[in-house]
Amino acid sequence: MLLDLSGVLSEQHTELIQDVDIDMTEFRAGYGSFSVLKKTPISIRVTHVKERKFRITGSGKVTFEIPCDRCLKPVETELVLDFVKNIDLDVPDGGQTEELDETNYIDGYTLDADKLVCGEILIGWPTKILCSEDCKGMCGVCGQNLNQGTCDCEDAGLDPRMSVIRDVFKNFKEV
Ligand SMILES: [Zn+2]
Ligand SMILES: [Zn+2]
Repeated sequence: MLLDLSGVLSEQHTELIQDVDIDMTEFRAGYGSFSVLKKTPISIRVTHVKERKFRITGSGKVTFEIPCDRCLKPVETELVLDFVKNIDLDVPDGGQTEELDETNYIDGYTLDADKLVCGEILIGWPTKILCSEDCKGMCGVCGQNLNQGTCDCEDAGLDPRMSVIRDVFKNFKEV
């Protein structure tokens, strides 16, 4: 959704308050895509600070399905968005010097709320997802989910071919 900032930046400095429905059914990150299970509208408020400076605040919640880092079981994960952005139009690129990601969500007097929220999701993305604190993960040899049962694999790397597979799993799980 595109929001018009001209009122905020006009002589009257009208405050802009808008609930934005984010048009998103999945979130694509470099390492995969994740289904959106639930989302609230994002409440966005834009207030004038001075001259060509203004502040954007936003809050809302998006729930994703993200696989457990250890056993890959899908975990319902709620991401709470609550952000404040200070924008200065006189600084190139909207003054977003503190962030290196592409914050090109302002174009002239238009705010692209979807782009803004996508950037915030990326910033707030959880670094670790576990289905439970004591998730046992999966067997590095056969892939058995060890929360659901044990397997008969020997953990020692007796067979070199198996240890290759195990390394692949290890690398995969460390993502
Ligand atoms: Zn797990
Ligand atoms: Zn096994």
